[in-house]
Amino acid sequence: MIYPVVKYGNPVLEKPAEAVTVFDEKLQKLVEDMFESMYAAHGVGLAAPQIGISQRLAVIDVSFKEDPKAKLVLVNPVVVRIEGKQRGSEGCLSIPDFREEVTRPMRVTVRAQDATGKTFEACGEELLARALVHETDHLNGKLYISHLSALKRDLMKRKIRKMIKAGEW
Ligand SMILES: [Zn+2]
Repeated sequence: MIYPVVKYGNPVLEKPAEAVTVFDEKLQKLVEDMFESMYAAHGVGLAAPQIGISQRLAVIDVSFKEDPKAKLVLVNPVVVRIEGKQRGSEGCLSIPDFREEVTRPMRVTVRAQDATGKTFEACGEELLARALVHETDHLNGKLYISHLSALKRDLMKRKIRKMIKAGEW
């Protein structure tokens, strides 16, 4: 099942999500649906609050279907190590048609559980590092625009408010 992606302005995106405590078939189905919804939206990462579900769960596939081994399920992820810096263009499925330069760590390690509840560590560089912190941020109610200057952020918010008023959001 493909869920529609919730857009900026919906409060679910800006509140910390609840820990996942039950690792059952329902969770596994939700993980499948999240991959399906992410691919349908042409994204490489999706967090559960982005489909209106306030739970600490995210999926990532920086290969976008090219490499099955690249599929990553993160339940209750916590960033445990960051190294270096990278600056590059970043977007978000919940803030469509906008992209901004964001500074992120070059290497990121998260500790998370998989869909069965097993704890593991995932390490990534470059795009994967960016995705790991972007999705973990989502679960803390934080959007990438919080990493922009106040000036840039306010400009974006103004544009979005205009689009909301015009019924274009
Ligand atoms: Zn996002």
